[in-house]
Amino acid sequence: MLPVTSMIPVEEARERILAYFGRLEPERKPLLDALGQVLAEDVVAPFDIPPLDNTAMDGYAVRAADTAGASEAAPVQLRVIADLAAGYVLETPVGPGEAVRIMTGAPVPPGADAIVPFEETDEALRGINEAARKAGSVRVLKAANPGANIRRRGEDVQAGSTVIPAGRVLRPSEIGVLASIGLTHVTVIRRPVVAILSTGDEITPPGEPLLPGRIYDANAYSVAALVRKYGGIPRILGIARDTVEDLTAKIREGLDADMLVTSAGVSRGDFDVVKDVLAREGNIDFWTVRMRPGKPLAFGAFTAPGGRKVPHLGLPGNPVSSMVSFELFGRPAIFTMLGRSDWERPTVRAISRDYVRNPDGRRFYARCIVTRGDDGRWYADLTGPQGSGMLTSMSAANALAVIPEDVPAANPGDEIECIMLDWEHAP
Ligand code: AMP
Ligand code: MG
Repeated sequence: MLPVTSMIPVEEARERILAYFGRLEPERKPLLDALGQVLAEDVVAPFDIPPLDNTAMDGYAVRAADTAGASEAAPVQLRVIADLAAGYVLETPVGPGEAVRIMTGAPVPPGADAIVPFEETDEALRGINEAARKAGSVRVLKAANPGANIRRRGEDVQAGSTVIPAGRVLRPSEIGVLASIGLTHVTVIRRPVVAILSTGDEITPPGEPLLPGRIYDANAYSVAALVRKYGGIPRILGIARDTVEDLTAKIREGLDADMLVTSAGVSRGDFDVVKDVLAREGNIDFWTVRMRPGKPLAFGAFTAPGGRKVPHLGLPGNPVSSMVSFELFGRPAIFTMLGRSDWERPTVRAISRDYVRNPDGRRFYARCIVTRGDDGRWYADLTGPQGSGMLTSMSAANALAVIPEDVPAANPGDEIECIMLDWEHAP
């Protein structure tokens, strides 16, 4: 076993890995398909939003001065000269003593400078009183201030201004804003394709009968799911047997991807064939990272036909190790390719309710459940046995508690930092 000092810290491994990645090139997509992607160029508004002064309420467009002193006891009567629905423009000016019945969103006609909502008129009465309506007048029960209930032209977006800057992740609200300026397509950083290869003679694809001594391929699926969750496009290549020929052939199938992820075959005592092939087909380093689970890690690049470098992340085989390693190294790589720098997850400081042993000077990522107590503080409970082969320990968890390298144990009552796995942002 390597001495502890020759292990590299998590941060160093991540830094070395991220040096291989950059933002991918832009692509043009239908608006809705770009959800979750990063805008590649500033989007500038071609016109004002709203494009015209318009009413925020159903009511009457009036000259505010006409309504001065109006009250329920002393209503002001105005002549209704038109009925205006949203989507139509009235050119006729509203003169003194006049009003236009107007629906939310309709442009304010010239001459009017306030909207009196129905509630401040005898509209309800007009509704049931045919005679009042036919008389073509309305009674205003409250004085209106100039500008009341008018949404001003350009108050949301001004023509020529940047509505969404390059680099912004498109959420539903951004998609809506882009639609509001009439766009059907948008230029975003494309999603990375991540090829995923499992290795090992014992690994069997789900759906096939399980022979004695074999196990089903969990890693390809958990990692593919993480790739998709973090914004990449997973491509499962299948399973490579522990032979030079098969492994070499399967790796080559993945070289048109933006990144190749393999699992297993990187630990000491493994069939050397995996290491040999990885080292021969590319420039691959084998690292021991000062972390648990997931000490062994391979990283480097293959050269695809044509000379393009394809970064390769070689995850450990144990299912929890492979997920935790992907979380720490794969997620930042995908985010970087997407043009995002916000890959760091939110953390909370929680009070441990367990004794967590960390005897070997590595950083321990303990699977735990973080909940808020009745006292408003966060508490962390381990999900149970922490074996790196026990994927259910990961499934039960919503967080990874981080026990630092130099902390041999966390005791019940100690505050520990927890990486929240299901939170996109700090609350
Ligand atoms: P290795 O890195 O090849 O020594 O594998 C470490 C452990 O992870 C072994 O118990 C393997 O059987 C297991 N393992 C490797 N690949 C997978 C996989 N794709 N799915 C589930 N378990 C795996
Ligand atoms: Mg193996």
